[in-house]
Amino acid sequence: MKSTADVAIIGLGIAGATLAIELRNRGVQVCAFDDPAHGTVSRGAAGLISPVAGLRFGVLDEWQQWWDHASAFYGSMQAIEPIPCYRLLYGEDERRYWQRKRQRLADENLAAESTLPERIAERVLRPSGVVAIRTAARVDTVRVLDTVARMLDTEGMLHYRYVREDEVSPCSAGWCVAGVECAHVVFCQGPALAASVRFGWLPRMFARGQRIAGTLAHSIAPEPVWLSIRGKSLLLEGRSFSFGSTFDWETTEPIVTEQSTGHLRRQLEQYLRVPFRIEQAWAGVRPIMADLKPAIGEHPQYRRCWLFNGLGSRGLLLAPRLASILAEAIVSDAVTIPPQFDLRRFAC
Ligand SMILES: Cc1cc2nc3c(=O)[nH]c(=O)nc-3n(C[C@H](O)[C@H](O)[C@H](O)COP(=O)(O)OP(=O)(O)OC[C@H]3O[C@@H](n4cnc5c(N)ncnc54)[C@H](O)[C@@H]3O)c2cc1C
Repeated sequence: MKSTADVAIIGLGIAGATLAIELRNRGVQVCAFDDPAHGTVSRGAAGLISPVAGLRFGVLDEWQQWWDHASAFYGSMQAIEPIPCYRLLYGEDERRYWQRKRQRLADENLAAESTLPERIAERVLRPSGVVAIRTAARVDTVRVLDTVARMLDTEGMLHYRYVREDEVSPCSAGWCVAGVECAHVVFCQGPALAASVRFGWLPRMFARGQRIAGTLAHSIAPEPVWLSIRGKSLLLEGRSFSFGSTFDWETTEPIVTEQSTGHLRRQLEQYLRVPFRIEQAWAGVRPIMADLKPAIGEHPQYRRCWLFNGLGSRGLLLAPRLASILAEAIVSDAVTIPPQFDLRRFAC
């Protein structure tokens, strides 16, 4: 076990993995700790990203910057592909949301009224309208995480183990993390932040999410397509499908429940006119801050002790840009973190 590094990263989900690469790109020696037994919500994410989301067509502020960073980062690992995305409108409320946003979405070339490919149109509950979301992609998250883990592992810089809070203590080099001396330590723990004492003052919230996957009786989309239906995502590819996710506040246990599976099954039966078989169900917990924005930055009391958390429902889209901001702040004392993401906004 190597006993020194510039930066120790605790947790190698999408937050830790993107940060590890951004730091290495700046010449920083990184070592990481990750506990596979603890679960990684990033590994089960559907992998879909778009700056337009939610029932009300919410557009992420500064969406172009988030999009460019994500495209470049995942592109460098051949882990992203554009995907046709259609939002199906059902009911008056959804039409109203679209009418309110259509001008802005059209001006920014993000979305436009459209029609479904015939083969799909025949097999879904007829919507009152269809909107094509122009900026949408699928990320192969497992490929990203495996690539980063392999890179660190071959250099002896990845330790597959859980780090207890009392194993992180100040030392002359900066921090001693489970026997490794380093100048900085970054907590990228995702939902495990729930148990943190050091960051216990942060207003953390958690939302369990579940999705289902399986096989259709016959294919209606030979190429991958993403249908957005009543706030949920249906991914179709050949005879495979994936559908979700549910939203269950204040739950920190990533457990699959019969209730959520039943809810997703009924909803899918309502909108999809093809028999299907559920073969898999997966649940994870989204780490969220009370103001729904990410939290990155240095602990207000402990120098060189950093956090990268609060990725919520859009972690794959947000992580690459946040990792770049945080890496700059770590390597250069002069860089400030934008106040809306800085964890110190919660400090008294
Ligand atoms: C059902 C579902 C579907 C989703 N789909 C999408 C999607 O399509 N697109 C999208 O952008 N987002 C999606 N998300 C959200 C996305 O998954 C999260 O925003 C993101 O994965 C959070 O990443 P993270 O790195 O913060 O946490 P994690 O991925 O959980 O990583 C944290 C890591 O830290 C490790 N760890 C924690 N504590 C310790 C410790 N003390 N010692 C060692 N290791 C430790 C854990 O084992 C884990 O590996 C989805 C979420 C859910 C629940």
